[in-house]
This record gives sequence, C-alpha cells and structure tokens, in this order.
Amino acid sequence: QPFPIPLKGLVQRGFGRGGKDLGCPTANLPDESISPISTVAKTGVYYGYAQVIPPATTTSKSELCANDYKVLPMVMSLGWNPFYKNERLTAEIHIMHEFKSDFYGYEMRALVLGYIRPELDYTSREALVEDIETDKKVALNSLNRPEYQKFMQDGHFNLPS
Ligand code: ADP
Ligand code: MG
Repeated sequence: QPFPIPLKGLVQRGFGRGGKDLGCPTANLPDESISPISTVAKTGVYYGYAQVIPPATTTSKSELCANDYKVLPMVMSLGWNPFYKNERLTAEIHIMHEFKSDFYGYEMRALVLGYIRPELDYTSREALVEDIETDKKVALNSLNRPEYQKFMQDGHFNLPS
C-alpha cells in the first residue's frame, strides 16, 4: 500500500510539449523531487491533490490569487522522458483549476493517492485528449469519496490557520 505518496519541489520549465494547446498544462517537478514515487516505479497516470505555495518573500510579486493557493485535485503523469533517451523519469502534474497566471519557480506540493492507468501510445491527438478528459473524471470521482477528502487537510499541505 504505497499511497499516499508526498511530493514537493519548485516547478520547472519543461519543453512546452503541447501541454497548454492540449488544454492540459502540466507543471513539472525537478528530478530530485521524484524519488518518493520512483520507488513505486510504475509509469502511468495517477491522481491526488496538489497545492501551489505562495512565495516566501514579499519582494517577488505574485500574479496568483488566494484561490490559486488552495489544495486542489490533480492528475499526474509519471513517465520516461523521450527527450532524455527514456533514461530519465518525469512527473508532470495537471491541477484541475483555472489559474490566474503561470507559476514557474513556485513551490508545489502534492499527495499522490491512486493509480488510474498505464501510459499508452497514442496514434491521434484526439484519442489522447479524450483519454485525458476521462482521467480527470476518474480522478474527480475517486477524490469525491469521503475517505479521500481527509487528505486535503494533510499536514503535508500548507493549511490556513
Ligand atoms: P511545460 O513544458 O513548461 O511544462 P506546459 O504547457 O505543460 O509547459 O505548461 C505548464 C505550466 O503551465 C506550469 O508550469 C504552470 O506554470 C502553468 N499552469 C497553468 N495552469 C496550470 C494547471 N491548471 N496545472 C498545471 N500547470 C498549470
Ligand atoms: Mg508540462
């Protein structure tokens, strides 16, 4: 029973491989943040909760608003990155929320709670987009169960005092 798996790190810039134009931007965690999940070593799509953390210093002005810092449902893709000859594992998180702006460089925390499906090879963009939509529904349905909602208040997250 590996879940819940806590992850955290500063959001990295990826290669912009079409996340946004597929309507599904994915925030990338740095390599060293992935070790807690790499022990699970099963690539594919996961679901859970994620939270973007406000910058500590007031000098760095933030374009995000209070709602953007809540604990929110997410789907995460864990896979071998073709850009690195499939030698490097990447974790990309799509948060199911409309953000006021991008949040590169911000801290992101996540609790991975369950596995949805293995990685698939897509012959068409339509098939991929369709599967992502299904993943989001599966995630939301699972997270709706009361046993999962307690994880929104997990000590791993930054909670309002
Ligand atoms: P990249 O290759 O740089 O990861 P993406 O197209 O996947 O490019 O976009 C990811 C970026 O989009 C994130 O790092 C984040 O700053 C921003 N973003 C905006 N909305 C979301 C969201 N709902 N979930 C994840 N990232 C988002
Ligand atoms: Mg991405």
